[in-house]
Order: sequence, then C-alpha cells, then structure tokens
Amino acid sequence: MSSTESVGGTEHTGSTAGHSARTVINGGISFWYAQQGLPSPREPLPSDAAADVVIVGGGFTGLWTAYYLKKAAPFLRITVLEQKFCGYGASGRNGGWLYNGIAGRDRHARVHGHEAAVRLQKAMNETVAEVVRVAEVEGIDADIHQGGVLEVACTPAQLARLKAFHEAELSFGEKDRELYGARETAERVRAADAVGSTWTPHGARLNPVKLVQGLAKAVEALGVTIHESTPVTEIRPKHAVTPYGTVRAPYVLRCTEGFTASLKGHRRTWLPMNSSMIATEPLTAEQWESVGWEGREALGDMAHAYMYAQRTADGRIALGGRGVPYRFGSRTDNDGRTQPATIEALRALLLRLFPQLTGVEVAHAWSGVLGVPRDWCATVTLDRSTGLGWAGGYVGSGVATTNLAARTLCDLIQQDSGQSGATELTALPWVGHKVRKWEPEPLRWIGVHGMYATYRAADRREQGTQAAQSSRLARIADRVAGR
Ligand SMILES: Cc1cc2nc3c(=O)[nH]c(=O)nc-3n(C[C@H](O)[C@H](O)[C@H](O)COP(=O)(O)OP(=O)(O)OC[C@H]3O[C@@H](n4cnc5c(N)ncnc54)[C@H](O)[C@@H]3O)c2cc1C
Repeated sequence: MSSTESVGGTEHTGSTAGHSARTVINGGISFWYAQQGLPSPREPLPSDAAADVVIVGGGFTGLWTAYYLKKAAPFLRITVLEQKFCGYGASGRNGGWLYNGIAGRDRHARVHGHEAAVRLQKAMNETVAEVVRVAEVEGIDADIHQGGVLEVACTPAQLARLKAFHEAELSFGEKDRELYGARETAERVRAADAVGSTWTPHGARLNPVKLVQGLAKAVEALGVTIHESTPVTEIRPKHAVTPYGTVRAPYVLRCTEGFTASLKGHRRTWLPMNSSMIATEPLTAEQWESVGWEGREALGDMAHAYMYAQRTADGRIALGGRGVPYRFGSRTDNDGRTQPATIEALRALLLRLFPQLTGVEVAHAWSGVLGVPRDWCATVTLDRSTGLGWAGGYVGSGVATTNLAARTLCDLIQQDSGQSGATELTALPWVGHKVRKWEPEPLRWIGVHGMYATYRAADRREQGTQAAQSSRLARIADRVAGR
C-alpha cells in the first residue's frame, strides 16, 4: 500500500501564509506510514493469559526487549501488549536519527563519576553498530545510511556552544569526532549562516517505520506473542490488566514512554513532550546540488529549541523541532495531527536553513510524544522485589538508546532469574536511576510552556545580537527545566 489516501486518520490541511496552493497531509500517524501504509492489525488479547514476561508497549523498547530476551532464552513465553499497533508511538514517527546521544549522561558523570559516564557513552557508540548489525541479520531493509551526525552552528553563540559540546564529547571518549570551520561545513552541506560544525561517525539515518515493523515481524518469527489493539489500563506486580483480560507473569515491563501518563498511578512519572516534523516533496537534482548534503548525515543545529533533519531515501528533507511543547494534563496528540502554526514554523525553519529551497512544497506534517523525566535522564530499571521493570525517559534520543535499554533489561532479568550474573550493561550508571515526579497541573503546563518560550526568545536574541556567548535567558530556562 503506498497511496497516502489509504492511511487512517489523515487530514488534509491547506498550506498557510499563501505560499502554495498545495495541501499538506496532516497526521495519519507519520509521513513514514503514509509512504509505507499502515500494517494489518494483529489479534487483540482474547482472554486472561499467563506468560513468563509480559511487555507493555510495542515500540522499539518493548520489541527490542522481546527480541533479546527470546534470543537469550528461547524457552521464555513472552507476550507484548500494544494499545494500537506496533510502532504507533514515537518509534513510528521519529526523525530517523540513529545516533549515540543519551539523555542524562552529564548528570550521571556528576553523580557516578566521569569514568562511569564514559562507559555509558562507549556502550551507546557500540549500540549504533548493534542496531545496524541486527537489521542486517534479520533482513530488515530500513534505508539505513551510515553517514554519521553533523551538527551545525549558525550564529556566534551557537558556535561557542558547538565548540564546548565538541570538547565535551571528546572528553567522554569519542576520539573519532571532527570539528569543521565554515568552509569545510559548506563542503558537506550548504546551510545559510553556518559558521562551523561537529561531526561524529556514530550515527546513521534510517526509516523508523521500516525498522519497527521489521522488528515486530522478526520478534514474532522468534515465537513472541504480540497482541495489538489491547490497551493496558493498569500495571501491578505480576499483572498487566486490559479490558479483555489480565496477563499474569513474574516480570511485567513498562515500555510506554510518552504514553506512560495514561497508566494508573503514572500521571506525573514522565511528561509527554511533543515533537513535530515536516517532510518536503522530493527535491529536484538542481535543488540537491544547491544544498549539497551528499553524505546524508543526520543533520542538526545548536539552537536551544533545536532542529533535527534527514535526507530521506527518496530524496526529501524530513525536518523536526518543537512545536506546541506540551498539552495540558499530559494529553497526547490525535494520530499525529499538528497545528498549522507549527507546520508553518517548521517550514520557516527549513527555509531559514536553506533559503535556496524557496518554493519547495511541504508534503506531510506530523507529531509524536517523547517521555521526559523530571531530571531529563533516561533510565532502565528492574525492581527485583516486584518483578516490575521499565525503560524510557529518553527525551529526544531513543532510536538507539531503546536498543541499549532492551539489552540491559534482558541482562537484568537473566541475572534476577539466575540465568547469568552481573554484566557490563547491568553496571551502567543509568540502571536503577530514581527521579522525583513532575509537578501537578497547572504548574507543569506553565513551567514547560514558559521554558520553551524562553528558549525561543534566547534563540531570537542570539540571532539578533550575534553575541558570542549563549543568552542568559537560556540559562534561566535550563534552571526552570531542572536539567
Ligand atoms: C517526532 C519525533 C521525532 C523523534 N526523532 C528522534 C530521532 O531522530 N532520533 C532519536 O534518537 N529519537 C527520536 N525521537 C525519540 C524516539 O523516537 C523515542 O525515544 C523512541 O521511539 C521511544 O521508543 P519506545 O518504544 O520507548 O516508545 P514508543 O515508540 O512511544 O512506544 C510506546 C508504545 O507503547 C504503546 N502503549 C502506550 N501505552 C500503552 C498502554 N497503556 N497499553 C498498551 N500499549 C501502550 C504505544 O501505543 C506505543 O506503541 C523522536 C520522537 C518523536 C516523537
């Protein structure tokens, strides 16, 4: 199925600002699904059931966990319960940056020491290669292109942050990272006002839907049971409760990321932060010549309200950033539908970066939710006393991190059930990390909206003044954020 008309929940929105008579497809989960078509649904849970491990959530975290557990212990009865369909959440909507960033590394360095954070970073570097390896072994063609990650600075203040970031990454053991000046940056990508960039080889661009759908099939082929259209309403020790029955298992794993707030008792655990994207129509050969970007690096900037982009396998630009950051009461979006003002803001961002693309059409816009813990640190935990486990809070860096989290959950379960001892992964500093809950409403809404308004103001000020240092406003926003 390739026609966009066949995607459920799609809404066509007239382009704004009068720059085009074309329509933008809005929602329909994501552009990746519009291209690929939605999967045929798997059967819901028919009745009460028993398993050795029940996994709630069929995104990358849940599916990678099922994959590694089943590989390690083929005899395990593993059931995945997914409220809609596998890859419905962020895993089927993201920007396809498979890269080595992990939320919270610097905090772990402060709390557990530099060496522990270096081990975490090394594990992340290896994780990028691991995802590529498994995709290959399982025959999943996810349009992976290993061009690394290029982050550009477009103002003097961004350049100061970029240099500090580059130095920090080197200090965490990334010896193969490179720093480029304006000329070398332009040789890679011709972005307006780019004064420098930093590049790491530990990154690839991919098509997230091809990866998550391929992974679901691979997991099923290994003998894991997946029930879709099965919302879990409550998780408690040894029980995952759904409207159709309860699955009982010694281990119950919560892999629900940005949707976690809808589970009983978890309203303030992780904040569902929105991220929104647009995808252009395919660019012409002349347009690509004007842009460069032949290395197809995952591309980002150093703004406080940062953007991320990829050159898609079919020659489009898919670009994302923060639109409406958060919905009151931890609500999530409706199948990816995005506000016209956000679409327009992302289009303006694209043209600010690549003014040579004036007139390029936006084909599709969509949104999704990330899970944000109160201290912005991703975590993976198994509570040995209850058998409850969880992984998430990846903020915007989950395409690779989910894989490390899953291998770690697998090791924790293997250790707890006496199948193996402690491993390098179970000793990483993000394991068992605890964090307080978010504030109740309306403080949560006011805080997050205030924070992003301040980041945007800081970006505008840095651009307006061309100051050499980060705006003080950004430091205020960092304090509000609790980073
Ligand atoms: C627009 C966007 C762009 C992004 N870009 C990038 C990027 O380029 N690179 C990067 O590293 N990260 C990116 N991220 C983040 C990354 O996509 C996520 O961190 C990652 O996909 C998280 O995977 P997950 O399986 O933990 O969560 P999800 O993919 O959200 O999966 C959770 C699943 O659980 C299901 N679920 C939730 N509640 C229940 C319930 N009660 N019962 C049953 N099932 C339930 C959901 O339907 C969903 O399928 C982006 C995220 C978004 C939204």
